[in-house]
Amino acid sequence: MKFWKLYIVVIMSALGCQDKPVTKNTPQKVVIAHRGASGYLPEHTLASKAMAYAMHPDYLEQDVVLSKDDVPIVIHDIHLDAVTNVAAVYPERLREDGRYYVIDFTFEELKNLQVYERFDIETGKAVFPARFPLQQSRFGLHSLSEEIEMIQGLNKSTGRNMGIYPEIKEPAFHLKEGKDISKIVLETLAKYGYTSRKDVCILQCFDASELRRIRTELKSELFLVQLMEFEEEIASIPKFAEYANGLGPWIGLLEDGRLLSLAKENDLVVHAYTLRKDQLGDATSFETLLEKVLFQQGVDGVFSDHPDAVLQFLKN
Ligand code: CA
Repeated sequence: MKFWKLYIVVIMSALGCQDKPVTKNTPQKVVIAHRGASGYLPEHTLASKAMAYAMHPDYLEQDVVLSKDDVPIVIHDIHLDAVTNVAAVYPERLREDGRYYVIDFTFEELKNLQVYERFDIETGKAVFPARFPLQQSRFGLHSLSEEIEMIQGLNKSTGRNMGIYPEIKEPAFHLKEGKDISKIVLETLAKYGYTSRKDVCILQCFDASELRRIRTELKSELFLVQLMEFEEEIASIPKFAEYANGLGPWIGLLEDGRLLSLAKENDLVVHAYTLRKDQLGDATSFETLLEKVLFQQGVDGVFSDHPDAVLQFLKN
């Protein structure tokens, strides 16, 4: 890290100039545990979150989908079949497309499922073969409330202030099913004290019109991050800045520097996804990849399945 940068950050912090809800591990970079410590335990399980918590990142991520009875559930997909034993427990509950949907099950029913390491539903093979073994031990699904209660409980017992980083999944799909997921998630967050930019909660969504609606119509004052997946979206960054405080791009979008310079011009922080020790792309090592994304390209933070390795890298 450049010395003058550290100096400026220290001065800014001392003057209370930072209005971001970021409790940073290093003076300048934010580490987000992507789906928990998902490189080591099945993604989004409470075990994976507890392990990630003990690694001391800045935020733990929650992907959120609604159950049939409107309970926000922490799971990455609107489908159940790639991370649970739903096909064995409720074989008759699949839709015409052959998939099992979280939204077709009540919270009580979802609690009967076991959660596994992610697998390919065609082949049954693990998506990340070097990770936690498939179908071993016992893990279940849980609600957003249950996860927040665990994190807040750990905050109390450890004296830390771990942030949460929920993502609203597929709001258009939920709306088609007659559910306003954003409204329900915002109510849950408010119930646990997350309402403003000062609270350690960052809300993320891929759907730009929904994230704008969260700011304008639903009047949320939370720190909002617009997730980005495609090259074409880079041109829309000035529009995103009308309601969002940050961008969450796929690391592939950082290559030509356009995204980061537009983010800077529009005063948006950039938290890129996803840094994985077992998915290096063209990089020769995880450290090289981190050096490139965090310091050469210069993002403000990263989502990682291996938050311990990112923190170790930053320490060095
Ligand atoms: Ca996510």
